[in-house]
Amino acid sequence: MFTTSSSFRALTMLKNTHHTFSRTTMAAAAAAPPSTTVSIYSSRPTTISLKEWQAWGTDSSMPTQVAQIVDEMMAFEQESDAQMKFGGLGGKLKGDFRTQEEKKHRAKYRSLDDSEQKLHFFSARQIACRLLGSRGYLCQKCWLPLEDCMCSSVVPSSLWHPIRFWLYMHPKDFLRQNNTGKLLWQVFGIDAATLCLFGIAEHEEIMWEAFMQSGRNNVWCLYPNKNAPTKSVADSFAGYTSNNLLSEPHTIDRGETLNFILIDGTWSNSAAMFRRLKERADLVWGDDLPCISLTTGASAMHKLRPQPSWDRTCTAGAAIGLLDELHLVPQFNSLGLDKQAEAVENSVDVLLASLTARRVRMGRSITRAQKHYNDFS
Ligand SMILES: [Zn+2]
Repeated sequence: MFTTSSSFRALTMLKNTHHTFSRTTMAAAAAAPPSTTVSIYSSRPTTISLKEWQAWGTDSSMPTQVAQIVDEMMAFEQESDAQMKFGGLGGKLKGDFRTQEEKKHRAKYRSLDDSEQKLHFFSARQIACRLLGSRGYLCQKCWLPLEDCMCSSVVPSSLWHPIRFWLYMHPKDFLRQNNTGKLLWQVFGIDAATLCLFGIAEHEEIMWEAFMQSGRNNVWCLYPNKNAPTKSVADSFAGYTSNNLLSEPHTIDRGETLNFILIDGTWSNSAAMFRRLKERADLVWGDDLPCISLTTGASAMHKLRPQPSWDRTCTAGAAIGLLDELHLVPQFNSLGLDKQAEAVENSVDVLLASLTARRVRMGRSITRAQKHYNDFS
């Protein structure tokens, strides 16, 4: 249990909605009880194509281990007498198939030698289950159930081009309806806000390759850990004088990209994610990962309409805060970063409205979730 604070926390979810949404069949959505299970249709494709994979918000190749686990699960379903079913939150397996598959994957997990292999397997399996469980159920762009798709209400914006956000996302937050990290690439596009899944080797390699090209001086991690040495946005950019970067128009090379890592996971998962980033930074640069913290706290969020289910602890809130604080740095003042923050803010409003409408339509009270407040398990 954690107390709320005004400072940003690396928490993906709109907390009050956490643990309270479950899936339902499309047809029964309006009246469905919360725990209806969706089964995957027998006519489904037996693999996940590159196109299907990338439609969820990435341009990476299909991670090898994820593809392998998908294949294994499909084959296992063929052999077993149970049908693969998913339900509840986060594409969890259900029923007999789950019992049988669990035995199998636990044995596999135990057989792995080191923690790195175990992490890769854990992440790949989580992603595989979510991909299979969300197929035909969630909109691939906004990650909401198809009947609640909010895509037509999201207004895209361009992010000032040297900035690149990296959504370092925990597998358990991948394809979560109430994840707000996804809003960043919905608004700015996947080149400006790039998904990097924790423990997925292909994604982590792409991210670190970009960091190595940009250099340590152009990478910052937003993390609120008070024990980690962090600098404020103002201090980090006070002497920033890249004329080339600030004059328009010009093309930037990768060395000029300003990379900001947003840790997109629950509070309890984010510590491990941060540790992994730090270890890699040490390996690559022999130095600490530069960290940045927001100083404006909740005040930066004053423009957000009061919403019981929203605070600045979510990932989109961190991006909004960062853009707002960068806008206050004199050299960055004329770049329209405040407008870009506003575009994200508007998308958060759209997400909240969609989630709220869904709850109301499904006959669940909006305040019921209050009891889950601060429940990060
Ligand atoms: Zn959509």
